Amino acid sequence: MNRRDFLKGLSGAVVAGAAVAAGCDHPNGVQAEGYTPGEVPTDKMSMRTDAHGQQVSFLGFGMMRLPVEGGGSLRDNPDAKLDQEAINQMVDYAIEHGVNYFDTAPVYLKGMSEAATGIALARHPRDRWLVATKMSNFRDWSYEASIKMYHQSFEYLQVDHIDYYLLHSFGGVDKETGKSDFDKRFVDNGVLDFLLKEREAGRIRNLGWSFHGEQSEFDKVVALHDKYHWDFAQIQMNYVDWHYAHEIEPENVNAEHLYNELDKREIPIVIMEPLLGGRLGKLQDHTAAMLKEHDPNRSLASWAWRHLGMYPRILTALSGMNLMEHLQDNIRSCAPLEPLSDDDLALLDRVADEFAHFPAIPCTSCQYCMPCPYGLDIPGIFAHYNKCLNDGDIATEGTVEQREFRRARKAFLTSYDASIDRLRQADHCIDCGECLKHCPQSIKIPEKMHMIEDYTNKLKDSLV
Ligand code: SF4
Ligand code: SF4
Repeated sequence: MNRRDFLKGLSGAVVAGAAVAAGCDHPNGVQAEGYTPGEVPTDKMSMRTDAHGQQVSFLGFGMMRLPVEGGGSLRDNPDAKLDQEAINQMVDYAIEHGVNYFDTAPVYLKGMSEAATGIALARHPRDRWLVATKMSNFRDWSYEASIKMYHQSFEYLQVDHIDYYLLHSFGGVDKETGKSDFDKRFVDNGVLDFLLKEREAGRIRNLGWSFHGEQSEFDKVVALHDKYHWDFAQIQMNYVDWHYAHEIEPENVNAEHLYNELDKREIPIVIMEPLLGGRLGKLQDHTAAMLKEHDPNRSLASWAWRHLGMYPRILTALSGMNLMEHLQDNIRSCAPLEPLSDDDLALLDRVADEFAHFPAIPCTSCQYCMPCPYGLDIPGIFAHYNKCLNDGDIATEGTVEQREFRRARKAFLTSYDASIDRLRQADHCIDCGECLKHCPQSIKIPEKMHMIEDYTNKLKDSLV
């Protein structure tokens, strides 16, 4: 195959990916690009008020990306233990700087997050922090297994009440049976009735849910507010998802709709993915330049925080932080939140448009799809592909210079083998579909794996 044929073949496969951005929020050991140093205030955190008058810090600490011993992440080192000392330090620092909302779940970090969160928080007076955890009964939704999971959360967190308890991430509908995920996991099995009684007894202070999925399911559950009196709800929102979530992946719902429906009913809102898995803190080069030109001293992430600050129904926004500079930068952005001017907002709209049309894979590295039964490192493969795309190491029809093409080919293939074990690469996907039902971003994972496999094969073929 000559280079021209190769490039022609690529144009459809490679750039047809869903739009979004590169550069996931990598764990320790990776430079926190786009962050700006400066003073970190201890007494200026913006606060919001929940349904019961409790003051909540606008910055919430998401305990799903925590440091592991030896650095790196659980993806890099699946047998690693969490680095409790580093976690304690980060939690101490967060509390000292006004953060009081900590969000965990039984399924985070292979089940280790809740216990690590409990250990770190128990070292502080109970009135200094609020804890959120979830009913993550994804794989076994029987009443017995679900209630066991609920009680275990109290044990791991070392608490006698949970401040915010969520029905974790529903939104799907079984295509064959028409059965809703929400009904199956929480209603039909009696789990929601049990949790409502727990709220009455005061062991749950606020009962809510987190959503990823189909609009019809969201609308149905929001309307159930009249019956269940939700104390809060958790949605994905940031300046890209506000208008572009649906365009990026047609199964996703724009944050504008989610926010407005909750706002109408005065339901306090918790935000997840305010930085899209870290990608809004480390934009593609051309979009980063748009913001840096406008204000070179502001971090990229701070723009996302200021955008969220415009919405009064938001209670707190959760960021998964495993590097101290991420935590410090987020505190600076929220202590206090600075309003956006009309010019700032117009610029952010243009950045969101550019971002949404960049052909990266919208993976946030959340790991919900893992483990793949065939051993693929799904988030690692997507992170590698997105990084190469952002660094200009994906050869496309625009790569007309032979020398440039060779450089891009070498960069992609060499770093692919270096970052992903050969047995865990895209060509081992057998289309079993197991991962599809777990991806909150609705990424067509097997389709993307085959796209990357085809691309890699074409690169290799062009070597001969
Ligand atoms: S479809 Fe592919 S990536 Fe997904 S679980 Fe199956 S083998 Fe793994
Ligand atoms: S579940 Fe989706 S977003 Fe999360 S790591 Fe897997 S592919 Fe990425």
